[in-house]
Amino acid sequence: MNMMKVHDTKMKVFTRDGFTCQKCKKMFEFSDLELAHRIMKGKAARRYIRSWYQERFFEVLSEADIDRIIHHPLNLVTSCKKCNSSFNCFNNYCETEILLTKIIRAEGLGL
Ligand SMILES: [Zn+2]
Repeated sequence: MNMMKVHDTKMKVFTRDGFTCQKCKKMFEFSDLELAHRIMKGKAARRYIRSWYQERFFEVLSEADIDRIIHHPLNLVTSCKKCNSSFNCFNNYCETEILLTKIIRAEGLGL
């Protein structure tokens, strides 16, 4: 994502979350906040999304579609810098599945 796009996405997500870190629930200035991913960006998460989708829709998601899912505002939460280092992916399988379903619907990727 380019710098302008990142700024727009940050503004959108921070505004939605009331400039409040979703972990410690404290309010911060724009410059003290970061975007945290619910479903992480790593290889394991990409593999998980790919097979989750394939099992349900019998189709293979492109890498670009996986990027769209990972960078979707629904997958992003407001975090202060301190909390971002400890923000973990959803370990709860059910919550991850609900989140993926919402994003796939929002993006028109199959449901
Ligand atoms: Zn925090």
